[in-house]
Amino acid sequence: MARLLLVSNRLPVTVKVDHGELHVSPSAGGLATGLKGPHQRSGGLWMGFPGDASRMDEAQRAELEARLAELQCVPIHLSPGEVSRYYEGFSNGVLWPLFHYLLDRVPLDARDWESYRRVNERFADLVAEHHREGDIVWVHDYQLALVPGMLRRRIPNARIGFFLHIPFPSSEIFRILPWRNQILDGLLGADLVGFHTLSYLRAFVASLMLVHGVEANVDRVWYEGREVRLGAFPMGIDAAAFAALADTPEVIEEARAIRKSAEGQHILLGIDRLDYTKGIPRRLLAIERLLEREPSLRGKVRLVQVTVPSRTKVEAYQDFRRQVDELVGRINGAFATVQSVPIHSLYRSFSERQLTALYKAADAMLVTPLRDGMNLVAKEFVAARTDEDGVLVLSELAGAASELGAALHVNPYDIGQVAMAMKRAITMPREERRWRMAALRGRVLAYDVHRWAQSFIDTLETQSEDTARRVTHTATPDELEKLTEEIRNERRLLVLLDYDGTLVEFEGLPENARPDEDLRALLRALAERPGTRVHVISGRTRPMLEGWLGDLPIGLSAEHGFWTRPGPQGTWTMRGHVPADWKSRFLPLLEQFVARTPGSLIEEKWASVTFHYRMADAAFGALQAKELRLHLGDLLKNAPVEVVPGDKVVEIRLLGAGSGALVPWLLRDAPQGTRVLALGDDLADEEMFAALASPHVAVHVGPGPSRAAYRLSGPAAARSLLREIARPG
Ligand code: UDP
Repeated sequence: MARLLLVSNRLPVTVKVDHGELHVSPSAGGLATGLKGPHQRSGGLWMGFPGDASRMDEAQRAELEARLAELQCVPIHLSPGEVSRYYEGFSNGVLWPLFHYLLDRVPLDARDWESYRRVNERFADLVAEHHREGDIVWVHDYQLALVPGMLRRRIPNARIGFFLHIPFPSSEIFRILPWRNQILDGLLGADLVGFHTLSYLRAFVASLMLVHGVEANVDRVWYEGREVRLGAFPMGIDAAAFAALADTPEVIEEARAIRKSAEGQHILLGIDRLDYTKGIPRRLLAIERLLEREPSLRGKVRLVQVTVPSRTKVEAYQDFRRQVDELVGRINGAFATVQSVPIHSLYRSFSERQLTALYKAADAMLVTPLRDGMNLVAKEFVAARTDEDGVLVLSELAGAASELGAALHVNPYDIGQVAMAMKRAITMPREERRWRMAALRGRVLAYDVHRWAQSFIDTLETQSEDTARRVTHTATPDELEKLTEEIRNERRLLVLLDYDGTLVEFEGLPENARPDEDLRALLRALAERPGTRVHVISGRTRPMLEGWLGDLPIGLSAEHGFWTRPGPQGTWTMRGHVPADWKSRFLPLLEQFVARTPGSLIEEKWASVTFHYRMADAAFGALQAKELRLHLGDLLKNAPVEVVPGDKVVEIRLLGAGSGALVPWLLRDAPQGTRVLALGDDLADEEMFAALASPHVAVHVGPGPSRAAYRLSGPAAARSLLREIARPG
């Protein structure tokens, strides 16, 4: 197993100085629990902020460093100013509300970007300093979104994963952020970017396209010469530990005591950090609504609301506490009786044991955030219910909702609906409670935090191996010289050449990419080399190829091999059958797309029709192309055609009309022992490469993934290779 370098804002430790004595202890918490195993087993390092050490003296700092080293931790010391700007100001003041769709919590004048950027640089420096060849780096969360990109620039071949623990918002929300492109660029420095749910992943893909102009192919993106993979990894909890804790005598006893104190009442439970994303005020209004509407429930319902102090230095949180307190006061004032109050509000943190007793004692758990990346409290409640009882009321806007289908889902903004869900929860028959809880437990116990961590790490490991396998290696000058020499010595050679992007650069208008005299002379020289045949295979039409290259002593294939002129003077033959009227089903749709995409055009051929959007606005064109593919997929489900996306094109072509079948056809006529050298740049050429096993040689021209063994930077490099081969002597 590769060594794991974990990077998060906070180290999983608690540091205290008490009467001059330093105490360092590992802290609990979801992430720490999940990553502990892989961290220790791999002999890894965890880097992050250990807490404020600005008041420590030199000796204490040294001791801290040593104690952290024993725990395989490396501290990054942030000054109080950095904490206030990078962490409280930008991360929690700007990114947090924005990513949770709470625009009115974003400060009028968002600042502190510079500090955020600088602290991210410091993290990247620290990781680079400790990084060794073969390590796996796993960066966590929104505070460190720039680290993957910064690290990539320091160590280009590093293996980097990033996981976002909060939602990724819709592109319409994300684009509000003035530093949106820097954030996307930072994240794309990773090999694997993980989210809790598919819907966050889709939102990210939409932002890549609409905000950054980068087109993703469902779960992978080609960015700056590398493949970045995207994945959904819903985070779990240490479910077995919660279940075990729930069955200990102390917890059983404590739960019994809680129940006893609420005798004759239904216990509803809320446990949240005091955060405006958690939906606490609306939850309180829902209780109020319930008591207003159902007089018979007055005195019979007790909401135990635990709110854990959080981010008390961020302004938005101070006002918020006041708002919650006022609501609690008002509702209790209206509905309390001499014997009971409806809302028991506890503003402090609890131990895991106390929390588990509360989970166990509750009739219903209310998890109603306005947005939540995942929400672990919901899962902890489920894990603690070894009695298969209790009802989970769960916001559909929490990431956990996508996994916990058997909960009662609510829209947290719909106060009437939440009130009714509360009523339904406390009146639900035992049998229904049981099957729902059994289903929830199945999921929570199976997909726990260990499985989460392992599946992310496994995906990252195979991803980097995969990329290494699939990404063509750029030929070094030495390798190129060796290859050239080998080919020059070949007595029987067949040179297969793609045209656009391989021999000539792309032009806005396809008809402008005509061959220059230099190229024509080169092709002629190559064809006149003894024992050599040259064949140009292009997606272009027969008249166009004939007009540009027809007088040369070479073979030509138009429409990716559908039409072929095998030798210099031969006639064109059609290798395939064209059903009458095969285009009429989809041409009207294509015309609609051209009409709404300025700069796009349709190119019609015998066996294919192509939607070109090279001259359209990049982001808009890509979006239209993607939508077109969806429509075409639907329309042409059973038709004998394939829809092939290419470089700024979507091509619809008859099945079997590709270049793959052409290669064996050409080789059949070639003398025994002929070696093929094939050059191409596009997805269409991959078919040709796939038909070529060793000793034939495939060369990919330009960026992008390919199965070819060699890569050249562009048409100029391709031409110079061919020139060398053609050179007499
Ligand atoms: N928690 C805690 N002490 C408390 C209350 C809650 O440690 O007094 C823990 C709780 O067990 C859970 C975490 O805090 O593991 C909250 O995670 P969640 O995903 O629900 O919300 P977040 O705080 O990450 O927004």
